[in-house]
Amino acid sequence: MQFQNNTAACIKDLPEQPPDLDLPSAPAFLDALTGLPNYTLFRNQLDLCLSRAEHKSQNMALVIIGLDRFKQVNDTYGYAAGDLVLQASSRRLAKFQAESCALARLGGDTFALAVGNSDNGQAITALAEQIKQSLSTPFLIEGEEAFITVSIGISHYPSQGKTVCELIANAKTAMDQIKDHGRDSHLFFDPEHHQSRRSTRRALLEQALHHALKKEQLILHYQPQIDLDSGEMRGVEALLRWEHPELGTISPAEFIPLAEEIGLIHPISEWVLHRACAQNSAWHKQGHNDLRMAVNLSAQQFSKPGLDRLVHEALAESGLAPRWLELELTETIALHDIDAAIETLKILKNMGVRLAIDDFGTGYSSLTYLRHFPIHSIKIDRSFIGGITTNSSDAAITRGVIAMAQNLGVRVVAEGVENEKQLIFLRSYQCHEVQGYYFFPPMPAKNIGHILLRQRETAAPSTCWSSQIPLEFPAGNL
Ligand code: C2E
Ligand code: MG
Ligand code: MG
Repeated sequence: MQFQNNTAACIKDLPEQPPDLDLPSAPAFLDALTGLPNYTLFRNQLDLCLSRAEHKSQNMALVIIGLDRFKQVNDTYGYAAGDLVLQASSRRLAKFQAESCALARLGGDTFALAVGNSDNGQAITALAEQIKQSLSTPFLIEGEEAFITVSIGISHYPSQGKTVCELIANAKTAMDQIKDHGRDSHLFFDPEHHQSRRSTRRALLEQALHHALKKEQLILHYQPQIDLDSGEMRGVEALLRWEHPELGTISPAEFIPLAEEIGLIHPISEWVLHRACAQNSAWHKQGHNDLRMAVNLSAQQFSKPGLDRLVHEALAESGLAPRWLELELTETIALHDIDAAIETLKILKNMGVRLAIDDFGTGYSSLTYLRHFPIHSIKIDRSFIGGITTNSSDAAITRGVIAMAQNLGVRVVAEGVENEKQLIFLRSYQCHEVQGYYFFPPMPAKNIGHILLRQRETAAPSTCWSSQIPLEFPAGNL
């Protein structure tokens, strides 16, 4: 079948596939309906395209394609027919694969195409027209012709976005603009128009955030941290998500800075700390009594007295012993009042709580802070890990940070491990722990519960994995 060939061709050039985890929580990186990469995988592919474009000083474009009024197809012909239209659309889009670095279904009726080396706006306009034409050819459903139009939003690297998040958000903004103004067309992202939309979105989020806690729209996901000696999940990091009923899942990267700006970070952080401690205490009571819980702190929490009391209360209320809580701080805490921050950290350390420096290497004075902060672990930022097998500077910096951490006697955790090559590199330099999509994405508590159970079944003393971790590690072992 031609579709399968196309799919195979599209997957062939991808980085290593995630391991087949055979768990309820196993991350699916391919869209089940179309076989195309899903949003998670696409973000990684786009990251690679961007690195390539940056390395070669080239432009690139992100094209987001939304099928117009797709709901009507479902309503008129039924969901099975809707599924067929999505599959047929993905086959038609796969023909444009040759011109792109990646094609994906982002979800629902929305697809995305990353186009490498796209210096020429005219060429992208021509491509958008071809896509429009291709998808406007009627689909045959039960002998009837169904017509579909598409709205296409485009963002250009580097002029209309420099990061994966910016490019996706900007192309989506352009697509939404087309949808608001009659559909069936394409549009390049316009920063001026965006500015006014952004202030509208910001106002909307700001207002909604005030009620998010009360309406129970905030939830915690947990991402495993794997010990490279034992192969076991030793800890999890609590990562906040906002499930907005209309806007969908909103990333903490968007709403945490907003919460900080409008002062809501304090009640939100309090909730996170209580929730995370209670969850870990529950896991401990179920017998998983050596699991650590990492919680991110905002720098603003250091500018207000009472952080140590808040931590004490969360521990006391949950019954969790302090050593199973790790607080992740970024170097920005010192921008407020470094002496006060160090005092608070000392109190927390004396309470028995662990302290980790997050996103290590991205601040201005990482080394200075290492001297001052009484920390237990360093988390190497994923921007370095992403390049360790392709960029000699990233590799040298990562090796250096691991060696430094070992000499200082602190644990070192690599963030954002996405493939086996990175894992082999990190293991060969005796990095202590790893965290990343290669193992597990952030996931709901119940999925972590499954992993813990599986781990306990596999790690009976007679089969304890103290020896060499096989190359296929970790999927086979967990
Ligand atoms: P962080 O603490 O550095 O968390 C790691 C981020 O990397 C998470 O993004 C996680 O989903 C993502 N990640 C993990 N593995 C991979 C991978 O293999 N590849 C890639 N590309 N990304 C990976 P997330 O959940 O969107 O969180 C973003 C940031 O928001 C966090 O960065 C943290 O600074 C902040 N944040 C999240 N939850 C909280 C919270 O409860 N309180 C505060 N103050 N900040 C939070
Ligand atoms: Mg963190
Ligand atoms: Mg981090």
